[in-house]
Amino acid sequence: MKKRVDVFDTTLRDGEQSPGATLTIDEKLAIAHQLALLRVDTIEAGFPIASNDDYEAVKIVSENVQGPYIAGLCRSVEKDIARAWDALKHADKPCIHTFIATSDIHLQYKLKITRDQAIEMAKKAVSYAHDCTEKVEFSAEDASRTDWDYLCKVTEAVIDAGASVINLPDTVGYAEPEEYGRMVKYVIDNVPNMDDAIISVHCHNDLGLAVASSLEAVRNGAGQIECTINGLGERAGNASLEEVVMNFKTRQDYFNVDTNIDTKRIFNISQMVSRFTGINIQRNKAIVGKNAFAHEAGIHQHGVLSNPLCYEIMNPENIGKQTELIVGKHSGKHAIEKSLKDLGYDFSKEQLNRMVEEIKALADKQKTVLQEDMMAIAEDVLNTVGRSNQAIVLNEVTVMTGNKTTPTAVITVEYNGEKKTAASYGAGVLDSVANAMRNIYDSPLKLQEYELKAITGGTDALADVSILFTDKDSKEYHARGLDEDIVMASVKAIVNGINQIERQKSKKTIN
Ligand SMILES: [Zn+2]
Repeated sequence: MKKRVDVFDTTLRDGEQSPGATLTIDEKLAIAHQLALLRVDTIEAGFPIASNDDYEAVKIVSENVQGPYIAGLCRSVEKDIARAWDALKHADKPCIHTFIATSDIHLQYKLKITRDQAIEMAKKAVSYAHDCTEKVEFSAEDASRTDWDYLCKVTEAVIDAGASVINLPDTVGYAEPEEYGRMVKYVIDNVPNMDDAIISVHCHNDLGLAVASSLEAVRNGAGQIECTINGLGERAGNASLEEVVMNFKTRQDYFNVDTNIDTKRIFNISQMVSRFTGINIQRNKAIVGKNAFAHEAGIHQHGVLSNPLCYEIMNPENIGKQTELIVGKHSGKHAIEKSLKDLGYDFSKEQLNRMVEEIKALADKQKTVLQEDMMAIAEDVLNTVGRSNQAIVLNEVTVMTGNKTTPTAVITVEYNGEKKTAASYGAGVLDSVANAMRNIYDSPLKLQEYELKAITGGTDALADVSILFTDKDSKEYHARGLDEDIVMASVKAIVNGINQIERQKSKKTIN
């Protein structure tokens, strides 16, 4: 019989901690709906004590998303746990995820406590969490650099206190796969009450081994993998969900393991996360990169044509990668609404009306609207229609340019509810817009990278602009903008970027 491994997705928590990858609450909710359709076992929705935004996001996901467990992260202190529980208590299936570091280096230099004190804190935290709810996960932060016997002691103590999932993270991405697998086996073999819990693994990709280590841990008895869409996460990121899952699926002969994931949903959510975070997927990224499949990489040899398996070990359709026609010029509102539902969007009436308008406008120009167009537009509508807590809302833009004209821009925006108009010129259109914006939003934004893509191809295709910029403290932000017009797409990207800075301001950092 195949072994079932749980998939714990932390895109909304660890993934969102990637530099410059802040997500709005609406974006988090949209991703959480997609994760539920993907059928992950647990969605870690945030770190409620870290900021009001995190708290709100966990609460809204808990109230609205059914199917998976909804987890909130908290340190092993009562006020963190109470705050997490307050956000999670609305969920059908809540899970409190509490952690404390267990490696000597963290105990000594970060927490400045002894091993015994850490065990006491962990026990107390887990039993307090367990008084709130049945499902409690405990993480021994920096487990891969923790003394194995001490790790066993901590594990035994927290299982006794009520934890049913014990996570042994490779927090700093230091472990080698074989060694990490041995550690997991050692804990399973040496903890007497191990039957009452499962081992979870959470690996970082600092040495490019996050997926390999996670898979090796499963071969050694781990029952849950923590991962993120596109491998997002702190520093070099986490184990990528799509790589982990497709390893199990493609090499069933080797692992004899199954997950509950609907792999046909992988491509859509991967695109959504990339657009919302503004972080592009590298072209040669396994599974979801543009060149990941032989025929897309331009290998058109005889072998591929007569049998794709000559060069392809996976079928792109298995991850839902197809250019599917969604709607045409004559599709009605109901057809659009149904397609949106199938794609996992839950729109208000106002958003739906805008969606219909935008799709019809695009269908007029492009004749057909593909699934990718639809999702890109949906994400844009989600970001602009009926949005709360947007610091800047774009009302009007006029730009002038030509070979004998100084590029000039006039913009009108609502900045914190107040209408403001400004004009400026610049070296080019984008520069003039940025200068005009600077007259309203007084903060030096420095553009570092600018990328323009066509969503589906052709000069009439939707333009997708992604920018990377830094603020006055050299902090990085990613932002994207979408429009049929490249100038408008660029302006929207700038506006989205400013809104990101404003949101970041309201967050406080936590160690
Ligand atoms: Zn992590």
